[in-house]
Amino acid sequence: MNKSGKYFVSILVKSEDEAVEITKRKIGIDLGISDFAITTNDLGEIEKHKNPKQLYKAEKQLKKAQRSLSRKQKGGKNRSKARLQVAKKHEKIANQRKDFLDKLTKKITDENQVIVIETLSTQNLMKNHKLAKSIGDAGWYEFVRQLEYKAEQKGRTIIKADRFYPSSQICSACGHRDGKKPLHIREWECPNCGEYLDRDINASKNLLALAK
Ligand SMILES: [Zn+2]
Repeated sequence: MNKSGKYFVSILVKSEDEAVEITKRKIGIDLGISDFAITTNDLGEIEKHKNPKQLYKAEKQLKKAQRSLSRKQKGGKNRSKARLQVAKKHEKIANQRKDFLDKLTKKITDENQVIVIETLSTQNLMKNHKLAKSIGDAGWYEFVRQLEYKAEQKGRTIIKADRFYPSSQICSACGHRDGKKPLHIREWECPNCGEYLDRDINASKNLLALAK
C-alpha cells in the first residue's frame, strides 16, 4: 500500500522483446530549460517537447495542499486528512510525469536507430535549478532510464556525449567554436558564418552530429 492508500500487486512474467524494424533514422536530444527536450533528427526535423501543462497545475495544487497541512495541529484528525491530500497530489504529479516520459521515450525509440543524448552531470542539472526544480530533476533521470531500457529492448543504440562536450559552444552550421555563453543567452549569430542559432536546437544538432 502506498502513502495515498492505494494497493498494488506486481506480477513477474517472461516474454520476448518486442520486434521492431531497423531504421536509418538518427536523433540528437538536448534536455532543455523552457522545453523538456529538443530533438533534431537526420532529416532535419526539429521538435520541442514541452512539459505537460497539467504538470504545472498539479504542482500548484501540491503547494496549496502542503500549506494547508502546515497549518493543521499536530496529532489532530484534520492533520492526517491533510497529509493524505499531500500524498495524493504527489502521486498525481508522479503519474503525469511518468505518462509523459513513457510516451516520449516510446516515440523516440520507435522511430530512431541511433539516439544521442547528453551525459547528465551536476553541471547540466544546475541549469535546471533556475526553473521548476522538482519537474526537471526527477524527469531527466527517469527520461534517460526509460530511454535506455526501451532502446535495449528494441535493439537501438544510445550514444552519450562526453560530459565536457561543448554542445552549446559549437556552431552546428560551420563548426566554429565560440566561448562559453551564460544561460540567459538563448540565441546568437555565429561570428564565423553568420548563421542564426537557437541555443537548444543548436545543441541538439551538435549532439546528432555525434551519431556516426
Ligand atoms: Zn557558424
